[in-house]
Amino acid sequence: MAHEPAPQTLPPVTTLPSHRRFEKWVLAAVGPLPDSIAFRAGGPESTVAIIESPAATRRYLRALLLAGANSGLIDEAAPVEQPGSLQPIAGKLFGAYQVDGGHLQLAGCQLEDHLVCRCAWNESDVSYFASDGKRLSGAVIDAIKLDELSPRAGADELNVNEGVSAIEAALEHAESTSAAVRHVTLIQCRHAAGKIRFTIGSLSWDLPFSGWANAFTPPPFHCPHTGVDSFHIAATDDGRIAAAEEIAVCRRTGRRLLKKELAQCAVTGAYVLPEYAVQCPVTSEVVEQGVLVECTHCRQLVSPHAIQEGQCRACRTLAALENDDPRRQRMIAEHPGLAGWRNWRLAETADAYILEAQGLWQRLLAVLDRQTLHCRHMAIAQRWPGKWRDLSVEQAREILEKRSN
Ligand SMILES: [Zn+2]
Repeated sequence: MAHEPAPQTLPPVTTLPSHRRFEKWVLAAVGPLPDSIAFRAGGPESTVAIIESPAATRRYLRALLLAGANSGLIDEAAPVEQPGSLQPIAGKLFGAYQVDGGHLQLAGCQLEDHLVCRCAWNESDVSYFASDGKRLSGAVIDAIKLDELSPRAGADELNVNEGVSAIEAALEHAESTSAAVRHVTLIQCRHAAGKIRFTIGSLSWDLPFSGWANAFTPPPFHCPHTGVDSFHIAATDDGRIAAAEEIAVCRRTGRRLLKKELAQCAVTGAYVLPEYAVQCPVTSEVVEQGVLVECTHCRQLVSPHAIQEGQCRACRTLAALENDDPRRQRMIAEHPGLAGWRNWRLAETADAYILEAQGLWQRLLAVLDRQTLHCRHMAIAQRWPGKWRDLSVEQAREILEKRSN
C-alpha cells in the first residue's frame, strides 16, 4: 500500500520574522493550526512560500487571526460614534482657512478604516496601539472615543497586515514589561486623509491632511517662505503663496511682499522697501525716509525717539574728553584751530562726533563727520548766558584753521 503523504501542518515555531510575536502568541494558545483553517484560502503551502509570497503571508496571517477569534483571544469592534461620510471633515476644513483673494477646494479625500489594537493585560488594565506601532495617548483615546465600542464581526474584511501589525506592537510592548496579553480587540477606526488646495489667481498650493475622523482637526498651512504656521493664506505680488500674517504692503510703492523683505519703520510701524528706509545714527532704529527729525542743537537728523526737549540723546550725553584721547589728537591734527579750546566734551553717533569746548569768552559746538572729520555744523555761544548762534561755512573754516584762539 502506497504511503499517503503526511498531512502538512504548520510548525508551531517562529516562521515570519515580521510577525513572529503574533504567530507565537496565537499558536501558544490554540496549538498547531488545523489544515482546514490554515490552508482554507489557498491550499497547502510551504513555510518558505508563506514567508516569501505576500499573498501567502496574508492568507496565513488571516488563518491565525481566525484561529485567535475562534478561541476567544481576538475580537473586533468599532467606536459607537464616528462619521459615516466626508461631510463633517470637509466642513471643518472649509471653516478653518481664510484665503485672501482666492478660494480653497478639496483635492482628494478618503475616509478609510484603520485598525487600532486594544490590548487587555487584565480585567481593568488596557492599552491601545496603532498599526504603525505607536501606543495611543490618553488624549487620542478620548478624542476618537475608544471607550465606547460596539462589537463587529467579519475578519474577512479586515486589513490583515494592519491588524497584525497593531497586535504585534502590543506584544512587543508586553515583552518589554513582562506582562501577559490576555485578549486583544481590533477596532476599526475611521481615518481621513487627502489634500486641500488653496488657489489664488493662477497660483495654487496643496496641503495634505491626515487624521482620525473622530478627532479630526485641520492642519495649519506651513508657510514655505517664512516657516510660520497659519490658517490665513495670501499671495505676494511676485507670485508666492505665504502666511498672510507674514505679508505686508510697502507704503511707498504699494508692493505686496514678505515682511522680512521689507523694512518696518520703528516710529510709524509702516513697511517700506529697504531703499526707502534709513537708520537713525543715534538709536540705530530703522525708520522710513522722511520720519527723521532735526536735533535743534547738533542739526543732525535723528529718530523722534532720540529727541527730548528738542535735543537728541547724543547732545544730552556729552562726556568730558581727556587731553590725550586719540580722538582729540586726530581732530586737532585735522583742524588746528580746535587746539585752543578747552574743556572738551564729546559724544559719538554712528557717523558723527559732537564736540563742545570752551574758549575764554565763548563756547563752541562742532559736529564733525567721524570718517572724514569734515565739519557738518558749527555754532558759537557766549559763555553765560549763551544762546547758540549758527556759523556759516566760512566762519567755521576760520575757527578750525586758526592756529591760536
Ligand atoms: Zn543733537
